[in-house]
Amino acid sequence: MNFEKPKFNEKLTIDIDHPFYLHGISWGKKIKRILKILFNQNFNSFFDIKKDVFYTYDWIIDHFEKPQFFFLLSQNTKFDSSISPNYKPYQTIIKYIAKKTSIGIHPSFDSSENLDLIKNEINLLENIANQKVIHSRQHFLKYQFKTLNFLNQQGIEKEWSSCFWDKLGFKNGIAITFSFYDLENEQITQLKREPAIAMDRTFLSYLNSNPALAKAKINELKEKVKIYGGNFNLITHNETFSNFGEWKNWKEVF
Ligand SMILES: [Zn+2]
Repeated sequence: MNFEKPKFNEKLTIDIDHPFYLHGISWGKKIKRILKILFNQNFNSFFDIKKDVFYTYDWIIDHFEKPQFFFLLSQNTKFDSSISPNYKPYQTIIKYIAKKTSIGIHPSFDSSENLDLIKNEINLLENIANQKVIHSRQHFLKYQFKTLNFLNQQGIEKEWSSCFWDKLGFKNGIAITFSFYDLENEQITQLKREPAIAMDRTFLSYLNSNPALAKAKINELKEKVKIYGGNFNLITHNETFSNFGEWKNWKEVF
């Protein structure tokens, strides 16, 4: 049997869990962060939301071709966002990014078992961005078999959670888009899955990489995918490009 080599594609994807560092958060969190900002002398971030250290959106859009953004729109659990989806500057950012590139929903921590949560969060994003939402990636990459069925039922066309969180490589052993097979009903679904090879947090928290080592590893993986063809998708966050705190010197890695 002859297989055609798939085309090589490269895509940066970004989850927005914490849209701002200093804005839209509770006072309890704010005081600690104000001290950190003062220590780092980023004074402009107090007065201009676009100077917030996590406001890396324009930089990302300028540096990558059609990056894929995912927005977390929930404060349901302590593992979700510290910023309300009703916070107007957050909604302004979503509208702005939606006009520039592709966006999707980042369903919240409890959504993997809760169809209503997924439904409500998709509806909310559709109302804010004024467009149909067809892309999705689970927050914390947390999903079960039924989550994929929920997403399929809600009209999601591409699901992007197939990625290891504690190591590098392809979780489903494949570098190309594949269809979700519904085992309960024994049928191929409309839902496509888009695997990623690496996530920013994995380098920092599980592999103890410094930026130079991470960059070398990413390049090595990219060359491998180029040999066989397929999609070289990376998972990052807006704060990864902040050059601030734990992400100091990581801006040019991904
Ligand atoms: Zn997340």
